[in-house]
Amino acid sequence: MNDVFETLESEVRGYSRSWPAEFATASGAVQTTIDGSEYLDFFSGAGALNYGHNNPAVMEPLIDYLQSGAVLHSLDMKTPAKRRFLETFERLILKPRALDYKVMFPGPTGTNTVEAALKLARKVTGRQHILSFTNAFHGMTLGSLSVTGNSMKRQGAGIPLTNASKIPYDDYFDGETTDFLWLERVLADSGSGVDRPAAIIVETVQGEGGLRAARAEWLRGLAELCKRYEVLLIVDDVQAGCGRTGSFFSFEEAGIVPDIVCLSKSISGSGLPMALTLFKPELDVWSPGEHNGTFRGNNPAFVTATAALETFWADDSFQNRVADTSAALHARLGEIADSVEGASVRGRGMLAGLLFEDPAHAERVAGEAYRLGLLVETSGPEDEVVKIMPPLTISSAELQRGLDILTTAVRTVVR
Ligand code: PMP
Repeated sequence: MNDVFETLESEVRGYSRSWPAEFATASGAVQTTIDGSEYLDFFSGAGALNYGHNNPAVMEPLIDYLQSGAVLHSLDMKTPAKRRFLETFERLILKPRALDYKVMFPGPTGTNTVEAALKLARKVTGRQHILSFTNAFHGMTLGSLSVTGNSMKRQGAGIPLTNASKIPYDDYFDGETTDFLWLERVLADSGSGVDRPAAIIVETVQGEGGLRAARAEWLRGLAELCKRYEVLLIVDDVQAGCGRTGSFFSFEEAGIVPDIVCLSKSISGSGLPMALTLFKPELDVWSPGEHNGTFRGNNPAFVTATAALETFWADDSFQNRVADTSAALHARLGEIADSVEGASVRGRGMLAGLLFEDPAHAERVAGEAYRLGLLVETSGPEDEVVKIMPPLTISSAELQRGLDILTTAVRTVVR
Protein backbone atom coordinates (compact mmCIF):
# COMPACT_ATOMS: atom_id res chain seq x y z
CA MET A 1 0.00 0.00 0.00
CA ASN A 2 1.25 3.48 -0.83
CA ASP A 3 1.58 5.17 2.57
CA VAL A 4 2.15 8.87 1.90
CA PHE A 5 3.76 9.26 5.31
CA GLU A 6 6.55 6.98 4.09
CA THR A 7 6.64 7.80 0.38
CA LEU A 8 5.81 11.49 0.24
CA GLU A 9 6.69 13.05 3.58
CA SER A 10 10.33 14.08 4.01
CA GLU A 11 12.84 12.00 5.93
CA VAL A 12 13.11 14.93 8.34
CA ARG A 13 10.05 13.72 10.28
CA GLY A 14 10.91 12.79 13.87
CA TYR A 15 8.05 12.27 16.32
CA SER A 16 6.14 10.03 13.91
CA ARG A 17 9.10 7.65 13.97
CA SER A 18 9.08 7.34 17.78
CA TRP A 19 5.28 7.18 17.87
CA PRO A 20 4.12 5.61 14.58
CA ALA A 21 0.39 5.57 15.49
CA GLU A 22 -1.97 7.85 13.57
CA PHE A 23 -3.78 10.07 16.08
CA ALA A 24 -7.32 11.16 15.28
CA THR A 25 -8.87 12.74 18.36
CA ALA A 26 -7.72 14.09 21.70
CA SER A 27 -9.20 15.29 24.94
CA GLY A 28 -7.43 16.53 28.07
CA ALA A 29 -4.43 14.26 28.66
CA VAL A 30 -5.51 11.53 26.22
CA GLN A 31 -4.82 11.11 22.50
CA THR A 32 -6.77 8.47 20.57
CA THR A 33 -5.63 6.77 17.37
CA ILE A 34 -7.68 6.06 14.24
CA ASP A 35 -8.08 2.51 15.59
CA GLY A 36 -9.42 3.73 18.94
CA SER A 37 -6.30 3.04 21.04
CA GLU A 38 -5.78 5.56 23.81
CA TYR A 39 -2.44 7.05 24.82
CA LEU A 40 -1.83 9.14 27.91
CA ASP A 41 -0.04 12.28 26.87
CA PHE A 42 2.96 13.24 29.03
CA PHE A 43 4.35 15.29 26.14
CA SER A 44 1.73 18.05 25.80
CA GLY A 45 2.60 19.04 22.25
CA ALA A 46 6.18 19.83 23.30
CA GLY A 47 4.76 22.30 25.81
CA ALA A 48 2.10 23.85 23.57
CA LEU A 49 -0.78 22.16 25.40
CA ASN A 50 -0.38 23.15 29.05
CA TYR A 51 -4.17 23.18 29.46
CA GLY A 52 -4.63 19.82 27.72
CA HIS A 53 -6.14 18.94 24.37
CA ASN A 54 -9.42 20.60 23.33
CA ASN A 55 -10.04 22.17 26.72
CA PRO A 56 -13.71 23.32 26.63
CA ALA A 57 -12.70 26.57 28.33
CA VAL A 58 -10.85 27.61 25.18
CA MET A 59 -12.73 25.57 22.56
CA GLU A 60 -16.17 27.05 23.20
CA PRO A 61 -15.10 30.69 22.67
CA LEU A 62 -13.13 29.54 19.62
CA ILE A 63 -16.15 27.81 18.04
CA ASP A 64 -18.30 30.88 18.75
CA TYR A 65 -15.67 33.11 17.17
CA LEU A 66 -15.35 30.93 14.06
CA GLN A 67 -19.12 30.96 13.59
CA SER A 68 -19.46 34.71 14.09
CA GLY A 69 -17.93 35.82 10.79
CA ALA A 70 -15.21 37.73 12.64
CA VAL A 71 -11.79 38.42 11.09
CA LEU A 72 -9.46 35.39 11.10
CA HIS A 73 -6.32 36.84 9.60
CA SER A 74 -5.23 40.43 10.13
CA LEU A 75 -1.41 40.80 10.11
CA ASP A 76 -0.83 43.55 12.70
CA MET A 77 -4.14 45.34 12.14
CA LYS A 78 -6.36 46.20 15.12
CA THR A 79 -9.19 43.77 15.86
CA PRO A 80 -11.46 43.35 18.89
CA ALA A 81 -9.92 39.88 19.47
CA LYS A 82 -6.43 41.36 19.67
CA ARG A 83 -7.61 44.24 21.87
CA ARG A 84 -9.21 41.79 24.30
CA PHE A 85 -6.05 39.71 24.44
CA LEU A 86 -3.84 42.74 25.12
CA GLU A 87 -6.21 44.10 27.78
CA THR A 88 -6.45 40.70 29.48
CA PHE A 89 -2.69 40.10 29.35
CA GLU A 90 -2.07 43.50 30.91
CA ARG A 91 -4.76 43.03 33.59
CA LEU A 92 -4.08 39.42 34.62
CA ILE A 93 -0.40 38.90 33.87
CA LEU A 94 1.61 42.14 33.75
CA LYS A 95 -0.14 44.38 36.32
CA PRO A 96 -0.38 41.88 39.22
CA ARG A 97 3.32 41.17 38.81
CA ALA A 98 4.21 44.88 38.49
CA LEU A 99 5.88 44.13 35.15
CA ASP A 100 6.29 47.03 32.77
CA TYR A 101 6.76 45.50 29.33
CA LYS A 102 5.81 46.43 25.80
CA VAL A 103 4.28 43.53 23.89
CA MET A 104 5.13 42.59 20.33
CA PHE A 105 3.71 39.87 18.09
CA PRO A 106 6.82 38.63 16.28
CA GLY A 107 5.31 35.87 14.11
CA PRO A 108 3.60 32.57 14.79
CA THR A 109 6.14 30.40 16.61
CA GLY A 110 8.81 30.20 19.27
CA THR A 111 11.68 30.74 16.91
CA ASN A 112 10.09 34.00 15.71
CA THR A 113 10.09 35.48 19.21
CA VAL A 114 13.72 34.48 19.72
CA GLU A 115 14.68 36.06 16.37
CA ALA A 116 12.91 39.27 17.37
CA ALA A 117 14.65 39.28 20.76
CA LEU A 118 18.11 38.79 19.22
CA LYS A 119 17.52 41.46 16.58
CA LEU A 120 16.22 43.94 19.14
CA ALA A 121 19.15 43.34 21.51
CA ARG A 122 21.60 43.97 18.69
CA LYS A 123 19.78 47.08 17.55
CA VAL A 124 19.50 48.56 21.05
CA THR A 125 23.12 47.96 22.05
CA GLY A 126 24.82 48.32 18.68
CA ARG A 127 26.74 45.14 19.57
CA GLN A 128 26.62 41.96 17.49
CA HIS A 129 27.56 39.14 19.81
CA ILE A 130 25.08 37.00 21.76
CA LEU A 131 25.96 34.58 24.56
CA SER A 132 23.88 31.50 25.18
CA PHE A 133 24.44 28.30 27.15
CA THR A 134 25.67 24.87 26.20
CA ASN A 135 22.79 22.50 25.36
CA ALA A 136 20.40 25.44 25.02
CA PHE A 137 17.53 25.19 22.54
CA HIS A 138 16.10 28.36 21.07
CA GLY A 139 14.62 27.35 17.71
CA MET A 140 15.47 26.27 14.20
CA THR A 141 15.73 29.45 12.13
CA LEU A 142 19.27 30.70 11.56
CA GLY A 143 19.50 33.32 14.33
CA SER A 144 17.86 31.06 16.91
CA LEU A 145 19.95 28.16 15.70
CA SER A 146 23.15 30.14 16.18
CA VAL A 147 22.39 30.33 19.92
CA THR A 148 21.18 26.70 20.11
CA GLY A 149 23.65 24.24 21.61
CA ASN A 150 22.86 21.09 19.64
CA SER A 151 25.61 20.86 17.02
CA MET A 152 23.78 18.22 14.95
CA LYS A 153 20.95 20.67 14.44
CA ARG A 154 23.28 23.66 14.04
CA GLN A 155 25.60 22.03 11.56
CA GLY A 156 22.62 20.64 9.67
CA ALA A 157 22.14 24.23 8.48
CA GLY A 158 25.46 23.89 6.66
CA ILE A 159 26.31 27.53 7.18
CA PRO A 160 28.81 28.89 9.66
CA LEU A 161 26.79 30.88 12.13
CA THR A 162 28.85 33.59 13.69
CA ASN A 163 28.54 36.08 16.51
CA ALA A 164 27.24 33.59 19.04
CA SER A 165 29.19 31.84 21.81
CA LYS A 166 28.16 29.24 24.36
CA ILE A 167 28.75 29.57 28.08
CA PRO A 168 29.37 26.21 29.80
CA TYR A 169 25.97 25.63 31.32
CA ASP A 170 26.77 22.44 33.20
CA ASP A 171 29.32 23.96 35.58
CA TYR A 172 26.92 26.71 36.47
CA PHE A 173 23.83 24.66 36.97
CA ASP A 174 24.96 21.33 38.30
CA GLY A 175 27.70 22.67 40.55
CA GLU A 176 27.48 25.09 43.40
CA THR A 177 28.97 27.91 41.35
CA THR A 178 27.76 31.36 42.23
CA ASP A 179 30.77 33.28 41.02
CA PHE A 180 30.93 34.28 37.40
CA LEU A 181 34.69 34.64 36.88
CA TRP A 182 34.83 33.64 33.24
CA LEU A 183 31.60 35.36 32.34
CA GLU A 184 32.66 38.52 34.08
CA ARG A 185 35.86 38.69 32.00
CA VAL A 186 33.81 38.32 28.84
CA LEU A 187 31.31 40.96 29.81
CA ALA A 188 34.05 43.36 30.84
CA ASP A 189 35.75 42.59 27.50
CA SER A 190 39.09 42.30 29.26
CA GLY A 191 41.22 39.95 27.21
CA SER A 192 38.74 37.09 27.08
CA GLY A 193 38.89 36.95 23.29
CA VAL A 194 35.11 37.05 23.11
CA ASP A 195 33.42 40.28 22.01
CA ARG A 196 31.30 41.98 24.63
CA PRO A 197 27.83 40.70 23.92
CA ALA A 198 24.60 42.52 23.19
CA ALA A 199 22.71 40.00 25.29
CA ILE A 200 22.73 36.72 27.18
CA ILE A 201 19.84 34.38 26.38
CA VAL A 202 18.88 31.71 28.92
CA GLU A 203 16.20 29.11 29.59
CA THR A 204 15.54 28.77 33.33
CA VAL A 205 14.96 25.06 32.69
CA GLN A 206 16.50 23.53 29.56
CA GLY A 207 13.52 21.80 28.00
CA GLU A 208 15.29 20.20 25.04
CA GLY A 209 18.76 20.25 26.59
CA GLY A 210 18.18 17.70 29.36
CA LEU A 211 15.91 19.37 31.95
CA ARG A 212 18.71 21.16 33.74
CA ALA A 213 17.16 23.76 36.02
CA ALA A 214 18.87 27.00 37.01
CA ARG A 215 18.97 27.80 40.71
CA ALA A 216 17.15 31.00 41.72
CA GLU A 217 20.30 32.35 43.36
CA TRP A 218 22.28 31.76 40.19
CA LEU A 219 19.66 33.51 38.05
CA ARG A 220 19.79 36.50 40.38
CA GLY A 221 23.58 36.61 40.01
CA LEU A 222 23.28 36.43 36.23
CA ALA A 223 20.72 39.25 36.16
CA GLU A 224 22.90 41.40 38.39
CA LEU A 225 25.94 40.79 36.20
CA CYS A 226 24.02 41.71 33.05
CA LYS A 227 22.85 44.92 34.67
CA ARG A 228 26.35 45.85 35.83
CA TYR A 229 27.82 45.44 32.34
CA GLU A 230 24.79 46.80 30.45
CA VAL A 231 24.23 43.52 28.65
CA LEU A 232 20.60 42.64 28.01
CA LEU A 233 19.17 39.54 29.68
CA ILE A 234 16.77 37.56 27.50
CA VAL A 235 14.76 34.79 29.18
CA ASP A 236 13.45 32.29 26.65
CA ASP A 237 10.23 31.20 28.33
CA VAL A 238 8.84 29.55 25.21
CA GLN A 239 8.75 26.15 26.92
CA ALA A 240 9.16 26.92 30.64
CA GLY A 241 6.61 29.74 30.67
CA CYS A 242 2.78 29.81 30.85
CA GLY A 243 2.68 27.96 34.18
CA ARG A 244 4.96 25.03 33.29
CA THR A 245 7.29 25.54 36.24
CA GLY A 246 4.49 26.65 38.60
CA SER A 247 4.23 30.41 38.09
CA PHE A 248 3.15 32.15 34.89
CA PHE A 249 6.73 33.18 34.08
CA SER A 250 9.44 30.72 35.00
CA PHE A 251 11.69 33.51 36.35
CA GLU A 252 9.18 34.76 38.95
CA GLU A 253 10.53 32.50 41.67
CA ALA A 254 13.99 34.06 41.29
CA GLY A 255 12.49 37.54 41.52
CA ILE A 256 14.35 38.78 38.46
CA VAL A 257 12.98 41.02 35.71
CA PRO A 258 14.59 40.15 32.37
CA ASP A 259 15.02 42.90 29.78
CA ILE A 260 13.37 40.74 27.10
CA VAL A 261 11.07 37.71 27.46
CA CYS A 262 10.16 35.20 24.75
CA LEU A 263 6.80 33.43 24.96
CA SER A 264 5.06 31.03 22.58
CA LYS A 265 3.84 27.39 22.76
CA SER A 266 1.09 27.50 25.45
CA ILE A 267 0.40 31.24 25.25
CA SER A 268 -2.50 30.56 22.83
CA GLY A 269 -3.93 28.06 25.34
CA SER A 270 -5.17 25.82 22.53
CA GLY A 271 -2.23 24.63 20.45
CA LEU A 272 -2.88 27.32 17.83
CA PRO A 273 0.35 29.06 16.79
CA MET A 274 1.08 32.30 18.62
CA ALA A 275 4.13 34.07 20.01
CA LEU A 276 4.93 37.17 22.03
CA THR A 277 8.08 39.13 22.69
CA LEU A 278 8.03 41.31 25.79
CA PHE A 279 10.61 44.02 26.40
CA LYS A 280 11.18 46.96 28.67
CA PRO A 281 9.55 50.11 27.21
CA GLU A 282 12.87 51.93 26.79
CA LEU A 283 14.01 49.14 24.44
CA ASP A 284 11.24 49.89 21.94
CA VAL A 285 13.57 51.25 19.27
CA TRP A 286 11.84 49.47 16.39
CA SER A 287 10.88 51.54 13.38
CA PRO A 288 7.42 50.72 11.98
CA GLY A 289 7.54 47.59 9.84
CA GLU A 290 11.14 46.79 10.73
CA HIS A 291 10.17 43.36 12.00
CA ASN A 292 7.08 41.96 10.32
CA GLY A 293 5.53 38.69 9.18
CA THR A 294 2.28 37.58 7.57
CA PHE A 295 0.96 35.47 10.43
CA ARG A 296 1.28 37.88 13.34
CA GLY A 297 -2.46 38.44 13.57
CA ASN A 298 -3.90 35.00 14.27
CA ASN A 299 -7.23 36.11 15.76
CA PRO A 300 -8.47 32.60 16.68
CA ALA A 301 -5.27 32.27 18.74
CA PHE A 302 -5.98 35.62 20.43
CA VAL A 303 -9.45 34.33 21.34
CA THR A 304 -8.20 31.09 22.90
CA ALA A 305 -5.29 32.90 24.58
CA THR A 306 -7.70 35.34 26.22
CA ALA A 307 -9.98 32.51 27.35
CA ALA A 308 -7.00 30.62 28.83
CA LEU A 309 -5.81 33.66 30.78
CA GLU A 310 -9.31 34.33 32.11
CA THR A 311 -9.90 30.68 33.04
CA PHE A 312 -6.56 29.84 34.62
CA TRP A 313 -4.87 33.06 35.70
CA ALA A 314 -7.64 35.25 37.14
CA ASP A 315 -6.75 34.09 40.67
CA ASP A 316 -4.27 31.75 42.42
CA SER A 317 -6.37 28.58 42.34
CA PHE A 318 -4.85 27.11 39.17
CA GLN A 319 -1.32 27.93 40.30
CA ASN A 320 -2.01 26.22 43.64
CA ARG A 321 -3.37 23.18 41.85
CA VAL A 322 -0.27 23.02 39.64
CA ALA A 323 1.90 23.17 42.79
CA ASP A 324 0.04 20.15 44.22
CA THR A 325 0.23 18.19 40.95
CA SER A 326 3.90 19.01 40.64
CA ALA A 327 4.63 17.88 44.22
CA ALA A 328 2.84 14.58 43.52
CA LEU A 329 4.79 14.17 40.27
CA HIS A 330 8.18 14.80 41.88
CA ALA A 331 7.41 12.49 44.81
CA ARG A 332 6.64 9.61 42.42
CA LEU A 333 9.61 10.38 40.15
CA GLY A 334 11.84 10.31 43.25
CA GLU A 335 10.47 6.87 44.15
CA ILE A 336 11.08 5.57 40.63
CA ALA A 337 14.63 6.94 40.58
CA ASP A 338 15.38 5.46 44.03
CA SER A 339 14.08 2.04 43.00
CA VAL A 340 16.69 1.47 40.25
CA GLU A 341 20.42 1.97 39.74
CA GLY A 342 21.65 4.95 37.76
CA ALA A 343 18.58 7.17 37.60
CA SER A 344 17.87 10.59 39.09
CA VAL A 345 15.22 13.32 38.89
CA ARG A 346 15.74 16.53 36.96
CA GLY A 347 13.76 19.67 36.24
CA ARG A 348 11.38 21.99 38.03
CA GLY A 349 7.60 21.97 38.40
CA MET A 350 5.80 20.18 35.57
CA LEU A 351 8.91 20.38 33.37
CA ALA A 352 10.57 17.32 34.85
CA GLY A 353 12.72 14.43 33.77
CA LEU A 354 14.35 11.15 34.72
CA LEU A 355 18.06 11.17 33.95
CA PHE A 356 19.67 7.81 33.17
CA GLU A 357 23.42 7.24 33.54
CA ASP A 358 23.16 4.96 30.53
CA PRO A 359 21.53 7.05 27.79
CA ALA A 360 20.33 3.87 26.03
CA HIS A 361 18.05 3.28 29.03
CA ALA A 362 16.17 6.55 28.45
CA GLU A 363 15.48 5.70 24.82
CA ARG A 364 14.29 2.21 25.76
CA VAL A 365 12.11 3.48 28.63
CA ALA A 366 10.39 5.91 26.24
CA GLY A 367 9.87 3.07 23.74
CA GLU A 368 8.47 0.73 26.39
CA ALA A 369 6.19 3.49 27.73
CA TYR A 370 4.79 3.98 24.22
CA ARG A 371 4.13 0.26 23.92
CA LEU A 372 2.18 0.47 27.19
CA GLY A 373 0.18 3.53 26.13
CA LEU A 374 2.15 6.52 27.44
CA LEU A 375 3.73 9.28 25.35
CA VAL A 376 7.04 10.52 26.77
CA GLU A 377 9.98 11.81 24.75
CA THR A 378 13.70 11.92 25.46
CA SER A 379 15.73 15.08 25.95
CA GLY A 380 19.37 16.09 26.41
CA PRO A 381 22.53 16.03 24.30
CA GLU A 382 22.65 12.24 24.34
CA ASP A 383 18.90 11.74 24.78
CA GLU A 384 19.75 10.60 28.28
CA VAL A 385 16.65 12.05 29.99
CA VAL A 386 13.05 10.85 29.79
CA LYS A 387 11.08 14.06 29.75
CA ILE A 388 7.88 14.16 31.82
CA MET A 389 5.58 16.98 30.79
CA PRO A 390 1.89 16.16 31.39
CA PRO A 391 -0.77 18.83 30.82
CA LEU A 392 -0.97 21.11 33.88
CA THR A 393 -4.68 20.30 34.03
CA ILE A 394 -4.16 16.53 34.34
CA SER A 395 -6.32 14.77 36.94
CA SER A 396 -4.67 13.05 39.88
CA ALA A 397 -5.92 9.65 38.67
CA GLU A 398 -4.48 10.14 35.18
CA LEU A 399 -1.19 11.37 36.58
CA GLN A 400 -0.86 8.29 38.77
CA ARG A 401 -1.89 5.99 35.90
CA GLY A 402 0.78 7.48 33.65
CA LEU A 403 3.36 7.19 36.40
CA ASP A 404 2.37 3.54 36.96
CA ILE A 405 3.14 2.91 33.27
CA LEU A 406 6.41 4.79 33.60
CA THR A 407 7.35 2.71 36.66
CA THR A 408 6.70 -0.52 34.75
CA ALA A 409 8.68 0.75 31.76
CA VAL A 410 11.66 1.72 33.92
CA ARG A 411 11.65 -1.60 35.79
CA THR A 412 11.45 -3.51 32.50
CA VAL A 413 14.44 -1.68 31.05
CA VAL A 414 16.68 -1.14 34.08
CA ARG A 415 17.18 -4.31 36.05
N1 PMP B 1 12.76 28.15 22.66
C1 PMP B 1 12.56 27.09 23.44
C2 PMP B 1 13.02 27.12 24.86
C3 PMP B 1 11.93 25.93 22.94
O1 PMP B 1 11.75 24.87 23.73
C4 PMP B 1 11.49 25.94 21.59
C5 PMP B 1 10.78 24.74 20.99
N2 PMP B 1 11.06 23.51 21.53
C6 PMP B 1 11.72 27.09 20.81
C7 PMP B 1 12.34 28.17 21.38
C8 PMP B 1 11.29 27.14 19.37
O2 PMP B 1 9.92 27.16 19.26
P1 PMP B 1 9.20 26.75 17.89
O3 PMP B 1 9.48 25.29 17.68
O4 PMP B 1 7.75 27.03 18.12
O5 PMP B 1 9.78 27.59 16.81
